[in-house]
Amino acid sequence: MSDETGKEQHGSCLCGAVRYTVTAAPVTAMACHCSHCQKQTGSAFSTIAGVPEAAFSLEGEAATYVDHGDSGNTVERSFCPQCGSPLFTRAEAAPGMVWIKTGTLDNPDAFAPSMHIWCKSKQHWLEPGALPAFDVMPG
Ligand SMILES: [Zn+2]
Ligand SMILES: [Zn+2]
Repeated sequence: MSDETGKEQHGSCLCGAVRYTVTAAPVTAMACHCSHCQKQTGSAFSTIAGVPEAAFSLEGEAATYVDHGDSGNTVERSFCPQCGSPLFTRAEAAPGMVWIKTGTLDNPDAFAPSMHIWCKSKQHWLEPGALPAFDVMPG
């Protein structure tokens, strides 16, 4: 896998109605096994990369569902209103950051996760491998 970190990255939903550009390397990238990510993605976990708001730009109109985390803080989950692809989130607990769902990158390999979080709800068949794994979100 080539290291694409730091290069401009582009992404989109499945139908292409919503596109985005990321112009900075992610601050962090992780696999999130929380129950809400499983529901939203319809998958075992979501892969997310946090980038500063200033490095994120959007083309097209995303729809947003306002979710709440365990702490009660809001998590704005944005998706394509045409095809439903989950695209990115903004969490009240991490102001100034946008969390990209890395499966929507045109080069989805670009931002590899460095840890697993919310493993207390991880699906039992999934082995986290060599990466650090946390029961919840590490402080
Ligand atoms: Zn779409
Ligand atoms: Zn999650």
